[in-house]
Amino acid sequence: MTGTRRNSRRLPPPISVGADGSSLSRLDVAALYQRTRRRRAAPYRRADIFARWGGACCYCDAPAEHLDHVQPLSRGGRDVLSNVVPACATCNLAKAALTLAEWIADYEAPRNP
Ligand SMILES: [Zn+2]
Repeated sequence: MTGTRRNSRRLPPPISVGADGSSLSRLDVAALYQRTRRRRAAPYRRADIFARWGGACCYCDAPAEHLDHVQPLSRGGRDVLSNVVPACATCNLAKAALTLAEWIADYEAPRNP
């Protein structure tokens, strides 16, 4: 015996991913891949939501171009029919990752000239 076990499980070398030399282990990559694969198709149809709202932005009545998550996904909102509304690009981009309450507060906040 030389001290190394033939059947020992060794992890393969990490994979470099960033320009700064950061790397992910192959297990990290596998976890990311699994997360991506588990993502399912949205449980609603874009056309149904647009039809339900008459094709208008739910915030300003302009023609809708985007779907907005009322409670943003990044803030714990779910990708479900009850959290998705049609929005025009202007409203959707202005609301961004704000909750509806935050967006309204921001809209009503006094502006400095
Ligand atoms: Zn709008």
